[in-house]
Amino acid sequence: MQQGKIGVTTENIFPIIKKFLYSDHEIFLREIVANAVDATQKLKALASKGDFKGEIGDVTVRVEADPDKKILRITDRGIGMTEEEVEKYINQIAFSSAGEFLEKYKDQLNGIIGHFGLGFYSSFMVADRVEINTLSYKDGAKAVKWECDGTPEYKISDSDRTERGTEIILYLDDESSDFAQASKVSQLLAKYCKFMPVPIAFGKEQEWKDGKYVDTGKDKIINDTEPIWTKKPSELKEEDYMSFYRELYPMQDDPLFYIHLNVDYPFNLTGVLYFPKIKDQMDITRNKIQLYCNQVFVTDSVENIVPDFLTLLHGVIDSPDIPLNVSRSYLQSDSNVKKISSYITKKVADRLEEIFKNDRQKFEEKWDNLKLFIEYGMLSDEKFYERAEKFALFKNTDGKYFSYEQYRTAIEPQQTDKNKKVVYLYTNDPVAQYTYIQGAKSKGYDVLVFDCQLDAHFVNLLESKFKDSSFARVDADFIDKLIEKEEMAKPELSESQISDISEMFQHVLPKDANYFVRVENMGENAGPVLITQSEFMRRYKEMSALGGGMNFYGQMPDSYTITVNYQNPLIAKIMDDKNDKTAKDVEAIEAELVAPEKDLAALKENIKDKKEEDIDQSVKDARNDLDKKIDSLKKQRKEVIDKFAGECDLLNQVVDLALLSNNMLKGESLSRFVKRSLDLLK
Ligand code: ADP
Repeated sequence: MQQGKIGVTTENIFPIIKKFLYSDHEIFLREIVANAVDATQKLKALASKGDFKGEIGDVTVRVEADPDKKILRITDRGIGMTEEEVEKYINQIAFSSAGEFLEKYKDQLNGIIGHFGLGFYSSFMVADRVEINTLSYKDGAKAVKWECDGTPEYKISDSDRTERGTEIILYLDDESSDFAQASKVSQLLAKYCKFMPVPIAFGKEQEWKDGKYVDTGKDKIINDTEPIWTKKPSELKEEDYMSFYRELYPMQDDPLFYIHLNVDYPFNLTGVLYFPKIKDQMDITRNKIQLYCNQVFVTDSVENIVPDFLTLLHGVIDSPDIPLNVSRSYLQSDSNVKKISSYITKKVADRLEEIFKNDRQKFEEKWDNLKLFIEYGMLSDEKFYERAEKFALFKNTDGKYFSYEQYRTAIEPQQTDKNKKVVYLYTNDPVAQYTYIQGAKSKGYDVLVFDCQLDAHFVNLLESKFKDSSFARVDADFIDKLIEKEEMAKPELSESQISDISEMFQHVLPKDANYFVRVENMGENAGPVLITQSEFMRRYKEMSALGGGMNFYGQMPDSYTITVNYQNPLIAKIMDDKNDKTAKDVEAIEAELVAPEKDLAALKENIKDKKEEDIDQSVKDARNDLDKKIDSLKKQRKEVIDKFAGECDLLNQVVDLALLSNNMLKGESLSRFVKRSLDLLK
C-alpha cells in the first residue's frame, strides 16, 4: 500500500469545491459518465488502429444507485488506468489543474462551472469518500484501487477488479443523499447524458405484469448513441427530424422547418435547428437550443453564442470548438464564437431562401408563423436583413403574398405620389380600418397587413431601407392626402365659411383629445367626415408604448385630424341650414364690424412706422377700444355659430357617427347619440 499527498497548492481543495460550486452540484454525474464514455471511445480508437487486439465486448457504461447505502457506482469497460496513470491523471494533473482552475476563476465560478466542470474532482461536491477500481487494457496490467476521503490524502492499493475498465464509487455525503434516488439519477441522466455516444444503462426495462410494473432482465439504456445530428442529412428523412423534435420537446407543436448544420472547417459544428411556430410575442420561448460538446450536454442557455434572434429557434448545436472554460461576456468577443454565430445566421438564411425558391407555396403557408422570427432577425441583424430582404414576404388585405421586389413592381404605377415617392399603405387592424381600406382599394391601391407588435419598429426599418418610399397606415389621413397626386384643388369656399365649419365642429367635438379640423374637397361620394391620426404621431406613440418608458410623445394627449368634406351633401345641407338660421344675426354683427375694422386699419396705417414707445397715449387708448370692440363682436358671432352648432341635430349626428365608426364614442356622448338617434326616428 502506498500513501501520499496530492499536488494541490490550495491547502484543502474540497471545501472550496463545495462552496463555490454549490448551485451546480448535479454536474458531477455528467463529468463522471463523460469520463467513462471517453475511456470507452479511446479503447475503440485503439482497437481500430490495431493497438488493442483483445476482445472489446460489451462496453455499456453502467450507473447503479443504492439509496439505502447512499452509494453511486459508475462502471465502464474502457481503457482503464495503470498505477502510474492513476498517479499522473488523478493525483497530479487532475488535482493540480482543478487547483489552478479554482485559483484562476474564483470570482466567476458560478457562471462557468456548468460549462467547464471540474472533471473527476467534481465528485467531491457530493461525496465525502470516493473510490476508484481500475484495470488497464494494457498487457500484464495490475488492477489498482484509489481512495480519497476528501482531504488531500489519498491511498493507493491493489484492487481485486478483474474486468478491464474503471469503477467509480461515490459515497454520498448527507446533504447529497438524494443523488442516490433512482428518480433523481434518471432525471440527471436524461438531462446530461441523453445523447452520449456509448450506451449507458441505468435500471431495468419494465413490463406490465399482474397489475403492476415489474423489472425485466433487460438493461434500460437511457441514451441515444447516434442522435440525428451525428448522421448525414442524406441518410435522414423529414419524419426523422420531426420525431427527433418531438423527443426533445414533447409538448410543442410541430416545427415549421428544420436546418441540419454540418461544418468541419474552420471550426467543427454539427446540429439541427428548428423553426418553431410563433404566433405572437406571448408564444416566444427563448433558450430552447441545447448546446453539446461531443454529445455531452453543456447548457441550454446559448445567448452570446448565437445571435439574439436565433435564440428563438429550437434544436441542438454540438461543437467542441466553443470555448466553455471562459466567462460568458468573453464569449462574445471570441473569434470562434463570432464565426459560429455568423455561420449559423448564414445557414438559417440559406435554408429560408432555399424553401422560398423551391417551395414558394409551403413558404407562404407558413409565413404567418415565421414572420415574427424573420422580422425580428431583420431588425436586429444587418447581415440577416441583407439576406432576408430577398425572401421576406408582404401579405396584403386579400391574403396574397409578395416578395418585396414583386410588391414594389406591383404598386409602383398607382402608388407613386407627386414627389416620386412610392407610398406603401398598410393596416394593423383590417377589421377596425375596414372603411379606410375600402377607400384605398376604390382608388386602385393595395393595402398591406402589418399586424404584429413588432411591426411598429419594422415599418421604420423598411422606410429607412427602401429607396424613395414611405409607409402610411391607411387611416392616417384621407387617401388623396396619403398619396398626393398633384396639387389638390383648394376649397372653393370663402374664408369665413371655412372658419364657420371649423368652429361648428370644434364646438361639438368631445374635449378629451385634441382635434384639428380641416375642410377639404374629397368629392361628393366620399363620406362627410373622416377622423385620422397622423402617421408620425401615432408611430411615436406606439414606439414609446413598446419601449415601455414614458417619453415625450407617450405623454402627449391623443390628437386627431377631422377632415370635413364640404362636397358631401350632408355637409352642404348643414351649411345651408347654418346660413338660413344664422345669416340674419351674423350679417348684423358683420355690419357692425365694418366701421371699427376700418377705423382700426386706418389707425394702424398711421402709426405703422412708429416705435411703440413713440405712440401717443390717446392713440393707444383708441386702438385698445377698437380691439375690444372687435373682439366682443367676434365673440358674439362665435356664440351665434356655436348656438346653431349645439342645436343642429344633423351636425351632431354626423360627428357622432364619425366618432362611432372609429370606436371613439363613449360614455355620456354615446348615450346622447343613442337618444338623439331615437328622437330622429320618431
Ligand atoms: P478530464 O476528463 O477533463 O481530462 P478529469 O479530472 O475528469 O479531467 O479526468 C482526469 C483524467 O483521468 C482523464 O483525462 C483520464 O485520463 C483519467 N480518467 C478519468 N476517468 C477515467 C475513466 N473512467 N477511465 C479511464 N481514465 C479515466
